[in-house]
Amino acid sequence: MAALPSYWITHPSCRLHRMEDEHPECPERLAAIEDRLLATGLDLFLHRAEAPSASAEALLRVHGAEHVEAVLGTHPAVGLVHIDPDTSMNAHTAEAALHAAGAGVLAVELLLSQRAGFVFCNVRPPGHHAERDRAMGFCFFNNIAVAAAEALARGIPRVAVLDFDVHYGNGTADIFRKEPRVLLCSTYQHPLYPYWAGDPDAPGLIDMPLAEGAGSEAYRDAVQNHWLPALEEFDPQMIFVSAGFDAHARDPMAGLCLSDEDFYWTGTQIRDFAARRCKNRVVAMLEGGYNPHALARCVEAFVRPFIGA
Ligand SMILES: [Zn+2]
Repeated sequence: MAALPSYWITHPSCRLHRMEDEHPECPERLAAIEDRLLATGLDLFLHRAEAPSASAEALLRVHGAEHVEAVLGTHPAVGLVHIDPDTSMNAHTAEAALHAAGAGVLAVELLLSQRAGFVFCNVRPPGHHAERDRAMGFCFFNNIAVAAAEALARGIPRVAVLDFDVHYGNGTADIFRKEPRVLLCSTYQHPLYPYWAGDPDAPGLIDMPLAEGAGSEAYRDAVQNHWLPALEEFDPQMIFVSAGFDAHARDPMAGLCLSDEDFYWTGTQIRDFAARRCKNRVVAMLEGGYNPHALARCVEAFVRPFIGA
């Protein structure tokens, strides 16, 4: 069977959300990634789609009504409304958050209708720190959770969320810790924001904390010897990836010291598992990554195995 197309989903509003000057989670991140796609010719291997708005139904599967209303109802005409010391909203944030969450809904639709095998959502604001009832850590809606919940709602029995962002995806854990149809595998630097303490009562959380400076070997060991066996046993029908690239050595926010090659390797591991066990179905959603040059190279490295380029 010929491989299904790979898709790239984004939306113009994702570049209009901006926090303070010099804030690391900035629109230039997406621009750097897009430039890299064009410069390397990877663009030619990807079908493009525009992210729709997530519906209220899709958002309310993973967020409380008050939280959804608070985000969608905040439209400062000028300036910023602060949610926490690092997280703020401008006039375009609500629209960007709505489309970032909608990207994952479209991605699931593309996989289920067999129009795509692999989908990368190049969107912001990121999502994995957003809890059911709380925006935090640059995140408003939990984009990967909205996507995973969409798959479950459409009859997929089990899904896995893989999160290799250097920060723990506390929001995704908060939303799914009691959901037996979701396995959440995480590698992250610890101790580091958001200082996740683990949850011994949640067997679906595979937490692999790594010490500052851990580097490639410790990371690959965690993926190979903990994530992959858990995936084999859980047997998901679809894979969702919280693709944060701030574990890279050049990232200013943390110190896990991963290389470009580690993200290529991660892509190959996920691709090979998905090919064997879940019909190649993979949705990746951009999370962190704050050195725009390293970020762009790492996204390229991660995407290459899926598109065979
Ligand atoms: Zn991060």
